Amino acid sequence: MGRLLAGTGDKPSLWQRIRAWAFTDVGVLIKGVDEASLQTLEEILLGADFGVPATLELVEHVEGGIRSGRVTSQQEALDAVAEEIRSIMTGHAGDPALSRAESGPTVYVFAGVNGVGKTTTIGKLALRLKREGRRPLLAAADTFRAGAIDQLRIWAERVHADFVGASPGADPAAVAFDAIDAAAARGCDVILIDTAGRLHTQTDLMKELAKVERVVARKLPGAPHETLLVLDATIGQNALAQTRMFRQALRITGLVLAKLDSTARGGIVIALVKEFGIPVKLVGTGEAPEDLEPFDAARFAAEVVSDRD
Ligand code: GDP
Ligand code: MG
Repeated sequence: MGRLLAGTGDKPSLWQRIRAWAFTDVGVLIKGVDEASLQTLEEILLGADFGVPATLELVEHVEGGIRSGRVTSQQEALDAVAEEIRSIMTGHAGDPALSRAESGPTVYVFAGVNGVGKTTTIGKLALRLKREGRRPLLAAADTFRAGAIDQLRIWAERVHADFVGASPGADPAAVAFDAIDAAAARGCDVILIDTAGRLHTQTDLMKELAKVERVVARKLPGAPHETLLVLDATIGQNALAQTRMFRQALRITGLVLAKLDSTARGGIVIALVKEFGIPVKLVGTGEAPEDLEPFDAARFAAEVVSDRD
């Protein structure tokens, strides 16, 4: 298992920057609260997409630790950062585990703008579920682009999962509805519904997604068991705007942060949890079928300040 927080070609990773701060600035800080050192930490966190509210909270926590005499070394300063990250994650987010139906099939609806990684995430999750002994069915309710249906079919073949297709232009809600019948007929216990990320207008897209959610709920009480919003970790603070938009139409129960491997600014996880209180449930760490992990807040917090793999 590699690091969640690697650097990218041109940028040192977040943990490298935090540790460099600890070793160059904390020595000054602990002799007496030093504004410039705190400002350096603030800049690192803002530059890593923690966002203003979480950044201020973290910097204040470190400053408070120094003023009260609890933080007296570089290591304690790093620990204070990790501790506050954990506290933000546990204080604001719910359970990171994916919900399951008590009886009957479990349904997960995936939403998110084009190109964020929805289809890839579904393929990768299907593989994980299969390895847990479950029988996933992939439903192609992104009927806006013909290529999208084929892309999901290819993922289904690749991970040996069941698949329900559609013709381009078909009603996505009808595809989702049929998928629930197909799952029952084929003995599948978890249905992963792919959706479009772009339509003629944003309003049309939101209406269509809301209809998918509504039709699924009517067909199967208690479903969808998760509506997962997939976000691209490399787009930084835009992820917040996308979450606000999708939340207006859908009952988002969890976030998936794809492409965490492609950014040196993983702090967006904290910014999202702090603003929305929606748990990050999964993270994408590459393009291969194995590159999806349940999100582990404690591990994330530890990695931000640790130089150990
Ligand atoms: P969709 O339009 O939301 O369905 O997005 P896709 O699943 O088609 O993904 C768009 C691109 O992002 C593809 O080239 C994927 O291989 C890539 N991608 C998806 N998830 C990840 C990830 O976790 N890491 C990396 N590096 N690439 C990813
Ligand atoms: Mg897609």
